[in-house]
Amino acid sequence: ATPTAVMVASGMGASQGVLIKGGDALEKAHKVKTVVFDKTGTLTIGKPEVVSAVLFSEFSMEELCDTTIAVEVSSEHPLAKAVVAHAKRLRQKFGSSTVEVPDVDDFEVHMGAGVSGKVGHRTILVGNKRLMHACNVPVCSEVEKYISENEIQARTCVLVAIDGKIAGAFSVTDPVKPEAKRVISFLHSMGISSIIVTGDNRATATAIANEVGIDEVFAETDPVGKANKVKDLQMKGMTVAMVGDGINDSPALVAADVGMAIGAGTDIAIEAADIVLVKSSLEDVITAIDLSRKTMSRIR
Ligand code: ADP
Ligand code: MG
Repeated sequence: ATPTAVMVASGMGASQGVLIKGGDALEKAHKVKTVVFDKTGTLTIGKPEVVSAVLFSEFSMEELCDTTIAVEVSSEHPLAKAVVAHAKRLRQKFGSSTVEVPDVDDFEVHMGAGVSGKVGHRTILVGNKRLMHACNVPVCSEVEKYISENEIQARTCVLVAIDGKIAGAFSVTDPVKPEAKRVISFLHSMGISSIIVTGDNRATATAIANEVGIDEVFAETDPVGKANKVKDLQMKGMTVAMVGDGINDSPALVAADVGMAIGAGTDIAIEAADIVLVKSSLEDVITAIDLSRKTMSRIR
């Protein structure tokens, strides 16, 4: 496209809340055959809330809440924020004897799995089943049952282990954005397929995919895995757009032909992307592709 055409299109995009950083993305967007969506914060609203908390061993609800808060308070993850808020409420409800939450030592982030740390003399793990397996914490059938019952309802389970034993769990819900289903179906009518990529587990991701009509699920992946999925599709000759909001999406946003960041997302994702969806609405994935189609057809 000529510099003038790019300028005109950028201006039109900007007025609709679609910031296009360069001519390259604008020229590629009309060729997009697949849109890869991140799950949390992209397809979902990204404000997770705890719907239940359960105990699986002799530890009390107060102990579960105190140790969970102590570790999760240091995590930036949206799941951690939801769990901390809920645990604080429960702590009050169960009349916690101490006012202060205990400190954490040796805090560690396990990318795509959870967090860990020492609270007093106890070792605490907070995260998914993969984290428990990696740390040799047995997951009994009672816990397995709780997990699968929640995952088929598109919920994510946060497990808490104290000294190598599952003490309890929190089930977290994060509803899909109201426009998600409409946008996916419109993309399909444009001949564009859709994929979900997520660090979350397969059952939860599949439940979300079914809810919004997404064709393919790529779950339990780390940031590099997300980028590799984009590259695989490109290797098959497809022009790929990636839509994401998190630090964990930035390698995939860079790898994609057209990286689109959710405006409400992290600065790192916004920097990595070619296009910023300022209003954080998935509708603007279509606005961007449409703008490119119109610009490119006017030129040829
Ligand atoms: P997503 O791709 O959905 O944004 P992430 O890669 O950030 O997911 O995380 C993948 C999974 O790791 C989460 O679904 C959760 O099970 C687990 N996890 C990561 N961080 C935390 C945390 N701070 N507390 C609990 N669970 C976590
Ligand atoms: Mg995300």
